[in-house]
Amino acid sequence: MENRIERIKKQLHSSSYKLTPQREATVRVLLEHEEDHLSAEDVYLLVKEKSPEIGLATVYRTLELLTELKIVDKINFGDGVSRYDLRQEGAAHFHHHLVCIECGAVDEIQEDLLEDVEEIVEKNWNFIIKDHRLTFHGICHRCHDRSTKDEETNNLD
Ligand SMILES: [Zn+2]
Ligand SMILES: [Zn+2]
Repeated sequence: MENRIERIKKQLHSSSYKLTPQREATVRVLLEHEEDHLSAEDVYLLVKEKSPEIGLATVYRTLELLTELKIVDKINFGDGVSRYDLRQEGAAHFHHHLVCIECGAVDEIQEDLLEDVEEIVEKNWNFIIKDHRLTFHGICHRCHDRSTKDEETNNLD
């Protein structure tokens, strides 16, 4: 955690920004909730628990700055809410998401898996790919397990 804060601090410095206490509080919340996909409001409420003096506008500006510096990625799963996701350190491309249409859970795939697809796109469309966003919509393994169990119980009746 401290190491990652240190590295994010360096990333900010290299773009002539400082890791102010307000920015650090926001970064800490993102690191502590790395698995989650928090909205600006979610981040603000968590920041406020520890630093009540920090306002929503400050948190919002920090998130925009971190997005600009590619420390976080802004994503939208189609519900109209922007969510902020820490970029995996050293990752050339943004990770993929599995969004469950039943329970709303969001799982991540860190492997790129798209090398072949990108090669085809680059060749056939003469397009230089820098990044991608990929969200799969479907039924997660937890919901799937639950529905198979339900079916088994129903069959017993
Ligand atoms: Zn993610
Ligand atoms: Zn689910």
